Amino acid sequence: MKGVMVIVDGMGDLPNSQLGEKTPLEAADMPNADFLASRGELGYMYSVKPGFIPESDEAIVSIFGNELISSTRGQLEARGTDLKLVRGDLAFRANFATIDSFKEGNILDRRAGRNLSTAEAEILAKSINKGIKLNSPFIFKATIGHRGVLVFKGGFSDNVSGNDMVYIPGQAKISNKISRIKPLDDEDNSQYAANIVNEFLEKVFDILDKHPINEKRRDKGLPPANFLLIRGAGIEIPKIKTYKRWASASYMPLERGFSRVCGMKTYSFDYPKLKGIDVYENLWEGLKKACKFSISVLKRNRKHADYVYIHIKETDLPGHDGKPVIKKEMLEYIDKTLFNFLRKFAPPNKIKVVITADHSTPCKLKSHSADPVPVLFYSGLIPKEKKFNESEARKGKLGRINGKELFKKVGFLK
Ligand code: ZN
Ligand code: ZN
Repeated sequence: MKGVMVIVDGMGDLPNSQLGEKTPLEAADMPNADFLASRGELGYMYSVKPGFIPESDEAIVSIFGNELISSTRGQLEARGTDLKLVRGDLAFRANFATIDSFKEGNILDRRAGRNLSTAEAEILAKSINKGIKLNSPFIFKATIGHRGVLVFKGGFSDNVSGNDMVYIPGQAKISNKISRIKPLDDEDNSQYAANIVNEFLEKVFDILDKHPINEKRRDKGLPPANFLLIRGAGIEIPKIKTYKRWASASYMPLERGFSRVCGMKTYSFDYPKLKGIDVYENLWEGLKKACKFSISVLKRNRKHADYVYIHIKETDLPGHDGKPVIKKEMLEYIDKTLFNFLRKFAPPNKIKVVITADHSTPCKLKSHSADPVPVLFYSGLIPKEKKFNESEARKGKLGRINGKELFKKVGFLK
């Protein structure tokens, strides 16, 4: 093994009053990341480009050296599940969400409170698949938490919008109303695809809004999961660079699909089921599993892969929820486990390590931002004390990097 690439999702942040005007990384006690930083260099990265607010898919596609293609998300997510796709199948990423009514179309919660249990999501998915009749076969699959994948089988056009406002790449969300799916060109096939998907979505609301699961959620004071927000229409395998001799430890459908499409040897585990309404209990369980799992993938591939890509998802969520203390604690946990392992594993095996994020998710903004992310590049240099955080990274010798240049900069090429 020559190198390890760790992406800690949404790790970048801004100073927060709950942490004495420090960022979670600055406030966190991370001796192992600091050990690696001290024997390497720091820098900062615009994962897509300056001023661009990246979604996770846009960020990883860019960091792995590709141009952005708007249609990748649905396909990557679908290929991260066990669904079998053929060319022409129209795939979307979907979220269970809460709206007031189909007619008014106000989005009340984009993730249905983020506390939809795995069992609830599976029952709702079953009702959608059984209850909706269309001229075109489709499959909806609930994946993790509020997330899902929606696939229409057949020869479709993917030149259609999503239904969560008019999504403009790189910009902040601009509306809180659902929109109709719109064709993005004058082709009949795009209009046809939009019509089918619109018909589907209207029926989804009819089935979900009065579903017993949602009646129960309302009784408990929880937001009903009465709609699906969909985006990232795609009909063919995204044309992205291949990474042979890479192994990947990834467990979210997007990152797993991305790794598979790149040709990496992809290792995964089943995410712990969300049972209660405390999503953070589930996230901690997931994070512990993810760190342990990543370590086992590293050990197994010491001789079998040139590079290993590790993706850790959980840290993005306290950013979206505005919980800087939890984000700091998660970073400390990753340091104590995965980074502690890397500190011992990398030096004797002469393995280089990159630790960075796909984008910033500042707790005070509760959303992704265009702020650059810190980059740590451990290369076994003579120690010189450094701390891994946003402000030191801005002064680091690696300097400013655009996502696409990262691998060249650190010498991680195939
Ligand atoms: Zn992300
Ligand atoms: Zn996010």
